[in-house]
Amino acid sequence: MTTGASSFYFPAPRAQRFCSQCGTQLTQIIPPDDNRLRDACGRCGAIHYQNPRNVVGVLPIWEGKVLLCRRAIEPRYNTWTLPAGFMELGETTAQGAMRETQEEAGAQIELGSLYTIIDVPHAEQVHFYYLARVLSPELYPGPESLEAAFFAVEDIPWSRLAFRTVVTTLEHYIRDRETGVFPIHHYDIEQVSYNTSDQP
Ligand SMILES: [Zn+2]
Repeated sequence: MTTGASSFYFPAPRAQRFCSQCGTQLTQIIPPDDNRLRDACGRCGAIHYQNPRNVVGVLPIWEGKVLLCRRAIEPRYNTWTLPAGFMELGETTAQGAMRETQEEAGAQIELGSLYTIIDVPHAEQVHFYYLARVLSPELYPGPESLEAAFFAVEDIPWSRLAFRTVVTTLEHYIRDRETGVFPIHHYDIEQVSYNTSDQP
């Protein structure tokens, strides 16, 4: 994480201190007809609901090899990941997955079917991975990646993968390759007590 006034790279913490409508300090209340604590503004009445974020990504395949990117950003700097990132407002999950692939790997792909849907409640996220066919081996990784490369299944750097949703998506893929059938897999990832990180 960087510090200093000119650095804008770290995301703001989830908890909000001030009302984005009027600037008043927020308090936590259970609003009428609700059942959980919300950040609420005692001055203008705004309730600042927080909901899970969607992470959208791709499992891109070129001639049986998997496209992975080595992260140039925290968290998990220098570890390998499938192209993925936070969905932006106004786009579909498919558009977000395509955009992330372009940004992180510069790869030309043809998006396939949705493959994994992974609930990660402790990280307040849901991850969606699409299958994709890479159309050309040319890669142009962007500033979020140190490099992008294709890995034969037996060469996947398991101990240096960034996130458990990446690990489990790849595990499903390797298992499904044996049958040639790639159904949607929907599952949860629970927080691992010995892992102090809050990342999925
Ligand atoms: Zn307010």
